[in-house]
Amino acid sequence: MGAGRFAPSPSGELHLGNLRTAILAWLFARSTQREFLMRVEDLDRARAGAEELQLADLRAIGLDWDGPTVRQSDRMPLYSAAIDDLRSRNLLFECYCTRRDIAEAGSAPHAAPGTYPGTCRDLSESEREAKRAMRPAALRLRSETTEFSVTDALHGPFTGVVDDFVVLRNDGVPAYNLAVVVDDGIQGIDQVVRGDDLLSSAPRQAYLAGLLGYTAPGYAHVPLALNAEGKRLAKRDGSVTLGQLAGHGVGPGEARSMMLASLELPTTSLDAALAAFDPTLLPTDPWVFTTDPGEKRGMRLAPENR
Ligand code: GLU
Repeated sequence: MGAGRFAPSPSGELHLGNLRTAILAWLFARSTQREFLMRVEDLDRARAGAEELQLADLRAIGLDWDGPTVRQSDRMPLYSAAIDDLRSRNLLFECYCTRRDIAEAGSAPHAAPGTYPGTCRDLSESEREAKRAMRPAALRLRSETTEFSVTDALHGPFTGVVDDFVVLRNDGVPAYNLAVVVDDGIQGIDQVVRGDDLLSSAPRQAYLAGLLGYTAPGYAHVPLALNAEGKRLAKRDGSVTLGQLAGHGVGPGEARSMMLASLELPTTSLDAALAAFDPTLLPTDPWVFTTDPGEKRGMRLAPENR
């Protein structure tokens, strides 16, 4: 039996777009008899109290998960062991570049956009000494490829950039790409369902999984929720969290119905949605919210085609 997961970053309250992705991850896992695991990705931008709020909201819309909730901040030794493994195989190098250094080097005509330009990859020991005196090093993967392919249940085959990405930040915190791969590997996750803003990270993660001896999971990158301007939905876009909706008299059950309706699934219960769930029939367009204070109890949330 494999496993799927939801892996929220506790940086604030989940909004309906995040909750809808969680519902999808649950539906994908439960419809394929997988376990469904909950992992709090709190290495970065964690806000006090956000984890409790997020988990309470996930429960309020009826989601359940297997086993204890796992927290990345409790798993540092696992990330260190993976970094040591890569280091012992000469697959890491120290990088002293600032964002600005990278942006400037990356604008050179030969540089691929959005990729690390290789500045620190082959420094001599004396060059390293000089840089070390200026700032602490991050560790980057010495990638032996420039691209990698994954298969996505919604996007099909997808080939994307693999550069020398950061695995350990220069403040000593494991990078997202490292932690996610180590966790998915160790937790036996073979189905990753998440927002399609992360599709471009999947090739890096699948490549790293292979280096660490894990089989890359199957992916399903699902459309995000957008605001009326076509930008990623955010809390300022109106009544988009369960807390905000409650203020308009809309309870979690009704919020869940709206999310299920946007997925063209039965809205009566999660079980009914599960029975009808077929990933090949999912709407492929983003879910666009418009908020109109004049309508239904101070708000209107409508799925629309773009
Ligand atoms: N923690 C990430 C986020 O909330 C998701 C990571 C993942 O699903 O791989 O954006």
